[in-house]
Amino acid sequence: HLGPQRVDRSVDSVCPFCGVGCLVTYHVRDEKIVSVEGRAGPANAGRLCVKGRFGFDYVHHPERLTQPLVRRAGVPKDPALLGTPRDWREVFEPVGWDEALERATAPLRALRAQHGPAALAGFGSAKGSNEEAYLFQKLVRTVFGSNNVDHCTRLCHASSVAALLEGVGSGAVSNPVADVAEAELILVIGSNPTANHPVAATWMKNAARRGARIVLADPRVTDLARHAWRVLPFKADSDVALLNALLHTIVEEGLVNEAFVRERAANVEALRAHVRDFSPEAMAPVCGIAAETLREVARAYATARSAIILWGMGVSQHVHGTDNVRCLIALATLTGQIGRPGTGLHPLRGQNNVQGASDAGLIPMMFPNYQRVDRPEAHAWFEAFWGAQLDDKPGATVVEILNRALAPTEDPQKVRGMYIMGENPAMSDPDLHHARAALAALDHLVVQDIFLTETAWLADVVLPASAWPEKTGTVSNTDRMVQMGRRALNPPGDARPDLWIVQQMGQRLGLYAPKPGAATGATGWEYPGPESGVAAVFDEMRTAMQAAIGGITWERLGAASTVTYPCLTPEDPGQPVVFTERFPTPSGRVQLVPAGLVPAAERPDAEYPLVLITGRQLEHWHTGSMTRRSQVLDALEPEATASVHGDDLAAWGLAPGDWAELRSRRGSVRVRLRRDDGTPRGSVFLPFAYAEAAANLLTHAALDPFGKIPEFKYCAVALRPAPA
Ligand code: SF4
Repeated sequence: HLGPQRVDRSVDSVCPFCGVGCLVTYHVRDEKIVSVEGRAGPANAGRLCVKGRFGFDYVHHPERLTQPLVRRAGVPKDPALLGTPRDWREVFEPVGWDEALERATAPLRALRAQHGPAALAGFGSAKGSNEEAYLFQKLVRTVFGSNNVDHCTRLCHASSVAALLEGVGSGAVSNPVADVAEAELILVIGSNPTANHPVAATWMKNAARRGARIVLADPRVTDLARHAWRVLPFKADSDVALLNALLHTIVEEGLVNEAFVRERAANVEALRAHVRDFSPEAMAPVCGIAAETLREVARAYATARSAIILWGMGVSQHVHGTDNVRCLIALATLTGQIGRPGTGLHPLRGQNNVQGASDAGLIPMMFPNYQRVDRPEAHAWFEAFWGAQLDDKPGATVVEILNRALAPTEDPQKVRGMYIMGENPAMSDPDLHHARAALAALDHLVVQDIFLTETAWLADVVLPASAWPEKTGTVSNTDRMVQMGRRALNPPGDARPDLWIVQQMGQRLGLYAPKPGAATGATGWEYPGPESGVAAVFDEMRTAMQAAIGGITWERLGAASTVTYPCLTPEDPGQPVVFTERFPTPSGRVQLVPAGLVPAAERPDAEYPLVLITGRQLEHWHTGSMTRRSQVLDALEPEATASVHGDDLAAWGLAPGDWAELRSRRGSVRVRLRRDDGTPRGSVFLPFAYAEAAANLLTHAALDPFGKIPEFKYCAVALRPAPA
C-alpha cells in the first residue's frame, strides 16, 4: 500500500465515516496523510472500504477553514444562493479568536437575557467525538438553560431508538454485526449495506458463503441480493404489512417460542390477537410479496437455530418508523431469537459516532446514558453533578427547532439563536427551502465546522474546527464499541480542536456559576490536561454514565483501542451480546407493542406520480462536505444522478445520461438519469450528498410521532426531461 514512500510517522485511529468503526492507521509524511491502512480491529479485521481507504485528502483541501470568520455588515443571508459558487470574502471577513468568540457569544447571551432559555438551541454532531458531544450537550443544558439540543440521530435512527427503548429498554444493538458468523438466517431489511456499511456487508457475504441464509427485504434490489437466499422487494411504505404477515404466520402455524415469551415478554396475547388480521394472503397485495414467500420466510426465521435482524434507514425514515421497529422487536421476541450469539436486533448506525453522541446525551429528552430529563431522580442527580439549574422538560428536536425559528415573533418558544457544531442542516433536513429559511431567519447563528458548509454560509460567526485526524477522542460504533482516535496532524492555520472551542464558548457564555460542592471537577469550563483536556472530559463522562462505561478508563482505552460497553468494572471485558437473562425494562421483559398500517404522509397522485426514495452511495458520505472534497471519491461519483428502472426510462423515451428535472410540491432539482433495474418501477432513487441538486429540496417534513424522524424514504415527485 505504501510502495516506496517515506513515512514520517504512523498514527492509529478510527475511520471517520460510517458506524462500522473500522480501525485505521494514518501514515503521515511532511505533515500530510499519504495513505490509510486498515488495522486489526474487532469490527474490520484489517478491512476498509473505498471511503476509509481513499477518502482522507479532504483534510488537506484548500477550502479548509483556517481562520475565524464573521459576516460582513449588511450582507444578507440569502438561501437562494446556496449551492452556487461564491467568493467567501464577499460574505465574511476574517478576525482573531478573541473577537470571534466575543461576537459568537455576546448575541447569544443577549437573546437569552431578553427572551429566556427557549430562545436558544444547539445542534451537535455525530461526526465528533464522545467528549465533544458530551461537552456540547452540557453547554446547552447548563448555559443556554434548556434541553433544545439534538443532532442527526433525529434524521437516521430516532424511531429505532424510540421503539427499542420502549420495547427492550435499551436503544443500542443487542449483538454485534460480526455475530452474522453465528447466524443461520440473516434478515437484512431497509438497508443497503454494501454501499452504506461496506465492511459489515463483507461479514454478511462471508456468512452466506458458509451457508447462512440471507433474506434481503427492501424496495430496492441492491448488491447484497446476489448473496441472498430470498429477496423481498416489497412496496415502499408497506413494511408493517409485510412484517405483520410474518408475525401472523408465526402465531398461526404454532412457531411461537412459548417458553421464551412466557418468561421474557409482556403483552403477548394482545400482539397475537392483533396480527390475526394480517394473514400473508391478505397482505400480499399490500406489500407486493407472494403469500407463500412470506410464509416460507417466516418459517425459516422462526425455526433457524439462530437468526439475526439488521436494519437501516429504509425502516426508520418513515412516519411509521417506530411501528416498523416494533414489528421487528416482536419478530425476535415471539421466536426467542434474541439474547444469544447469532441472534438479536441490530439497527445499523449511520455515522461514525451517532451511537456515542446519543449515549452522551446529545438528544433533547435524555441526559447522558438515556436518563430522562423529566425523571425527577435523574434531573436532581445532574443538577448536583453539573452544579447548574437544569430544565426538566424535554427540548425540541431537529426539525421542531427549525420550525420554531420561523414561529411568530410573539411566540415564547421561538428559537432566535443557535450554535451548530459539525452539522449541516441546510443540506440534511427535509424540505430544504423551509429549513434554509429557518436558519436564515435566526437573529444569530454560530457555526463550527471544517468547511464553509451550506449551513455555514448562513452563519453570523464561523469558527474553524479540526478534522477527525487532527484530534484525540473516542467514538462508539454501531456495535457499542468505544474506540480511541489519536491526533495524527495539527489543524491548519488558526483552526482549533472542537473541544477547545466548546470550552471557550462555555467560558464566555458562563451564565451559571457552578454550585459549591458540585461533583464535577470541571467547574468554570476548564478541563486540564493535553489535547484540550480530553481525558478529563472522558473521566467526567464516565462518572455520568457509570451504568454503561464505568469500567472503561482512558488508560484502558489507550492500551486496548476498543472496549465494548456495557462495561461496569475495570475487570469487565465488556458485553458484546446483551439481554441474555433479562431486559433492562421496568419489568425485565420485552414490552410488545402491536402496530397497525399507517400510510406515508404524501402518496403519488396524477400530478406527482412517482415515489422518491433518498439515500446514500458507496462513495459519498451524507451531505458530501468531506467526500466531495476527496479526490478519488469525487472522481468516482462526480455528479448527482437519479436512478430509475430501465423499463421506466424506455417508457418515458429517455436514456441513461439524459438530464431530467425532478419536482415535488416543495422544490425541484436537475439531475442526470442513471439506469438501475434494482429501483422499483414508478420510483426514483436520489442520493442526498450533492448541493447543486439537493435531494432534500424535494423531501417531505412529516414526522414519525414517536421518534420525530422525517419521512426521507417516501414522497411524491414528478419527472420530466430537461435540456442538457
Ligand atoms: Fe470507514 Fe465504514 Fe468504510 Fe469501515 S466500512 S472503512 S468505517 S466507511
